[in-house]
Amino acid sequence: MGFISVSLDGADAASHDSFRGVSGAFDSALSGLDALVGAGYRNVQVIMSVYRGNVPQIDEVVALARAHGAGSVKFTPVTNTGRGVALHEGGEALDLEERMALAKYIQDDLAGRAGIDLVINLPPALRTFKKLWQSRGSTGDCGVQRTLGILGSGEIAMCGIGRTIPELVYGRLGEDSIRDIWLGHPKILRLRRELEDVAGYPGICGDCIHAGACRTGCVANNYVDNSRLVWPSAFCVQAEERGLFPEARRKSSIR
Ligand code: SF4
Repeated sequence: MGFISVSLDGADAASHDSFRGVSGAFDSALSGLDALVGAGYRNVQVIMSVYRGNVPQIDEVVALARAHGAGSVKFTPVTNTGRGVALHEGGEALDLEERMALAKYIQDDLAGRAGIDLVINLPPALRTFKKLWQSRGSTGDCGVQRTLGILGSGEIAMCGIGRTIPELVYGRLGEDSIRDIWLGHPKILRLRRELEDVAGYPGICGDCIHAGACRTGCVANNYVDNSRLVWPSAFCVQAEERGLFPEARRKSSIR
C-alpha cells in the first residue's frame, strides 16, 4: 500500500526545526498532516529520521502522530547524505547495536501501546522470523525498480537521492522524455540487470536467504556508503564483521 509521508524529526518545534534547519518547519509539518487527515486520507505516515539526539523523543513523536490522526510512524536512522553527513561525522548517527536495540524497543515495547502502526527500517536478515511474519512479507525492498524521482529542481533522478548525488540524475523535465529514460537509460538498464542477478550479488547478500526479496535493500544508501548501488546494506556488513549475522539466514548453512 502507498503512503503519503510527513517528516517529523522531533516532538517540538525547537528539535524539529533545528534538525531541518528551517524555522517554522515543525508547525508547517503539523499543518500539512492535519490537512491530509482532514481531507480523509487514512494512509498518512509520519517519518522520523532518528539519531542519538532525538531517540529520547520517540515516544512523544508517536503520541503526537497519533493525536493528529496519522496511521503509522516509520523510523529511519539518518543516512550519510545531505544534512545527515554532519551527524555521521559528529558521531550522532546510530551504530549497529543502537539500531538493533531501538528496533527491539519499538517492536517489543512501544508497538504494544502506540495505538498506531510502527515501522522501522532493518534488513530482513536482522529481523526475527516472527517480525517478518507480522510484516506480511515486507522485506525492505526499496522499490527502485518501480520508482523514478521527479525533483523539485525539475531533474529526473533514480529517486530523491538525486538531490545530493548528481550522477544519479538521468535527465530534466521539458528536455528529456520520462518514457525514454524509464525504458532505455543505460544506468537504469544496468541497475535492473544487476538487481535481477540475485545469484551474483556481492558479499553477504550472495549468501543471504532473503536476497531475492530484499534485493540488497536501499540501493541509494548502498551507493552513499560504497559508491555501488547493488551492494550489501552497511548494517548487514557490520553484522557479518562482528559475527552477529544470523547463521540461519545464510544459504550456505542450510545446503
Ligand atoms: S544480506 Fe543483503 S539481501 Fe540479506 S538482508 Fe542484508 S542487505 Fe538484504
